[in-house]
Amino acid sequence: MSEKDLLSDAAEKEAANPSFQEDETQEKEEYEDVCYICRRPESKVGRMIRIPSNICICADCMQKTFDSMNQSGFPMNDMANMNLGNIPNLQNLSNLSNMPNISMINLSELQNMMPQSQKLKKKKPKDGKKAKPVLDIRSIPAPHKIKASLDEYVVGQEHAKKVMSVAVYNHYKRVAADSEDGIEIEKSNMLMIGPTGSGKTYMVKTLARLLDVPLAIADATSLTEAGYIGDDIESVVSKLLAAADNDVEKAEHGIIFIDEIDKIAKKKNTHQRDVSGESVQQGMLKLLEGAQIEVPVGANSKNAMVPLATVNTKDILFICGGAFPDLEDIVKERLNKHSSMGFLGELKDKYDNEENILNRVEVEDIRKYGMIPEFLGRLPVIFTLDALSEDMMVRILSEPKNAILKQYEKLLAMDEVKLEFEEEALRAIAKRARKKDVGARALRAIIEEFMLDIMYEIPKDDSIGKVTITRDYIENTGGPVITLRGCMELPSQAG
Ligand code: ADP
Repeated sequence: MSEKDLLSDAAEKEAANPSFQEDETQEKEEYEDVCYICRRPESKVGRMIRIPSNICICADCMQKTFDSMNQSGFPMNDMANMNLGNIPNLQNLSNLSNMPNISMINLSELQNMMPQSQKLKKKKPKDGKKAKPVLDIRSIPAPHKIKASLDEYVVGQEHAKKVMSVAVYNHYKRVAADSEDGIEIEKSNMLMIGPTGSGKTYMVKTLARLLDVPLAIADATSLTEAGYIGDDIESVVSKLLAAADNDVEKAEHGIIFIDEIDKIAKKKNTHQRDVSGESVQQGMLKLLEGAQIEVPVGANSKNAMVPLATVNTKDILFICGGAFPDLEDIVKERLNKHSSMGFLGELKDKYDNEENILNRVEVEDIRKYGMIPEFLGRLPVIFTLDALSEDMMVRILSEPKNAILKQYEKLLAMDEVKLEFEEEALRAIAKRARKKDVGARALRAIIEEFMLDIMYEIPKDDSIGKVTITRDYIENTGGPVITLRGCMELPSQAG
């Protein structure tokens, strides 16, 4: 029997014996088969040959195996006539499994051992009519509605919220639109510039949750050019696929947020190969624009043991964020240079004390900072976030839907204790947080520090009905006010 016969024989057997598929559970039907040798999925390699024990092999690998057997002089024709069951030694081998402490390896078990995270969900059929689109443009809310939802969670940053809402709306409109009329809407990838702790990540997370799309967050500092130590640039797509439950179609409509993008600025005066700076920017170009990326499923790096999926990044929304320290100086320098020209020379330091000078940033400044023009060209929506003022911090403490104070109030309410904060206490917390220079991130740390005693002491005493956090308590000059259930107010000894 020739190798071709063997191949077609296997396919025929499979067609004649549908019982292979009959037993498959519904879950299995949702996931693709993966070639046992090269780990590529069926959607990529075409119909596979199934051999007993649930092993699938793609035609390529089967062919290669035959070729190498032929080259090594393996007697293929004899093999076809062989009846392995008649070989005495082999029969004896099967008896080994009856012996204590010796178990035979069953290849099908190995196949089934593949973790769920490495299985690939099948793409839904593309006939369009029956399958519901993942993102239906009619269900994408208008920009003002997106912003209104963001308002419930994100305090201030009005300009950023507005720009983002419009960009996201346009992006998903673009995804739904066809380009048959020759007009292709440009991708609205974004670049957010704002100090640390000003809510960049938080805004993207909130947005992804509201839109119900998968989100992957990556740190640009961990990325390196492919082949060097660190995460390969394409690993961000692999993360997104994992966030989408290995559903390629869902991942293709997701959002990728790359934080600390300023850290991959071109390094100045370096003669070495810049594998984590400019090269990463170069490497990201095709990703940002839209490319077919082959990514490992359920792992960070491609190796022989993980299946590969092809994800098209054309409709993935990329948002890059960074604090860009010292960018202010570049902006100021440019503005001052302009104003010092001609008769305006006396206004040389006009911009030195302007707050939120970053709002005046231009592409030219970011380029000067070290981002390459091709990279910036692929992030057409550039906007800045304001540094958090004391007022904003106070509002962040209490206003958002899941504000930290509301969380503590809820926790204590479970013990039937009412928690209250004096306005002055909130101001004191905001003041302390501002000093730490890490934006709103400091708030939680401060609150946790002084709430520890409260959360420890209050449940001890059933008679306590209300706790009021005072400014003195925050400033360590007094304690909170404890009100007993009988309505008597007692200054506490705690703190
Ligand atoms: P970064 O800008 O460094 O990415 P984050 O988005 O991680 O900062 O912000 C840290 C935390 O601060 C968030 O988890 C969020 O709770 C809070 N926060 C920051 N800015 C705001 C804001 N404008 N409104 C509400 N919460 C905010």
